Amino acid sequence: MSASVSNKVNLSLLHPSTRNKVSRLMDLCRDRDDLPLLITAGFRSREEQDALYSLGRTEPGKIVTKAKGSEYASPHQWAIAVDFCSAKDGYNNEAFFMTVAELAESVGFEAGARWVNFRDLPHLQDADFKVADLKKQYGTLEKFLATW
Ligand SMILES: [Zn+2]
Repeated sequence: MSASVSNKVNLSLLHPSTRNKVSRLMDLCRDRDDLPLLITAGFRSREEQDALYSLGRTEPGKIVTKAKGSEYASPHQWAIAVDFCSAKDGYNNEAFFMTVAELAESVGFEAGARWVNFRDLPHLQDADFKVADLKKQYGTLEKFLATW
């Protein structure tokens, strides 16, 4: 039996390299019966990132990000990151997250599950890019997009 792998995001908005890694990760999870991967987030606009940043600050809720939309600090805004959870257990299965993180690393992602300061279990970002470098080299998403 194989797990049902699903996706709620528009993967065509991701950088081609990142999209390719997501598709390889989905294939790896499909080969297992214990990894019902669900991709929950991908590209985020500045407005979407700002709305997320306001949670736990100016809006009720828990702080979920350190990245301000206006600073283009999130890899999601550069179309090089996705978030995931388990289609079966949501966010309540640490073993699931660690197993997927390992598979994700094997296809070229950096996993938020490994971060020490601000652990971000559902987060994966393309290890071929660094936000600081993208900001320095391109400044805006539009200029980065022009290189795809
Ligand atoms: Zn994320």
